[in-house]
Amino acid sequence: MGDIVTRMNTWYPPERAQSWDRVGLILGDLRCHAKKLLLALDPVADTVEEALDEKVDMMIVHHPLYLRGTSFLPQSDPKGRLVAKLIRSDIALFAAHTNADCSPEGTGDALADLLGIRDAVPLVQSGEDEEGRPYGHGRIGAITPMRLGDFADLVARRLPAGPTGLFCSGDEDARIAKVAVCPGAGDSFLEAARAAKADALLSADLRHHPALEHRESGAPALLCASHWATESVWMPRLAERLHSSAKAANVDLEVKVSTIATEPWMSHRPTLGGLL
Ligand SMILES: [Zn+2]
Repeated sequence: MGDIVTRMNTWYPPERAQSWDRVGLILGDLRCHAKKLLLALDPVADTVEEALDEKVDMMIVHHPLYLRGTSFLPQSDPKGRLVAKLIRSDIALFAAHTNADCSPEGTGDALADLLGIRDAVPLVQSGEDEEGRPYGHGRIGAITPMRLGDFADLVARRLPAGPTGLFCSGDEDARIAKVAVCPGAGDSFLEAARAAKADALLSADLRHHPALEHRESGAPALLCASHWATESVWMPRLAERLHSSAKAANVDLEVKVSTIATEPWMSHRPTLGGLL
């Protein structure tokens, strides 16, 4: 397990995480051998059950279990129950969150590559690695120019299926060529996308007021998908990376990607304004 943690921390250095974030090994013993992993976006009851069913040794998740300290872990508490179940089953838990968002081959690159965005660079640069390559949040790059409506169709086709779907704001006949993506909650990237002269921004969790104010003041067009859909596309990429690196080191490692969509919303209906 120590090797996996070292690999993850090399690829996604914890010092790149935001100051409020809590990344790294949450539960587990570095000296234990991990032969089977489960990758999931969220450490919640369903994914922990999946880890138990699959008899994995370790879960790697994107979202931390706790962002603030806690003094109590009773099993009457949902998170206390998860901790007890994982410890009883000897399953380790590791989180790579904002450090994975901003590093190469993290959530940003996974989403940009999925949509065919070329020459993607960070939308907001946080720093440079030892070789002088920039890292940071979001990605911006070029697509083959197309109508906004056609790009929205492409995004809807390629993102994982989920009940929330995709919202679009802008002139669907406008031609777009420069696209920014910010997996997860994207309110705080609206200004950066505008400053970088993106034609469109794809993100998630865009709230009413910031999105409406942004729309009132012009470009870029907005595409809003679900938090889970925009970030979970990283999981198969991470599985492949872990698997290849274990294979190169001649280590047997099975890596599963969770099949559970950990969206809070479970179904969707358009509202119909009083039609009976
Ligand atoms: Zn997230």
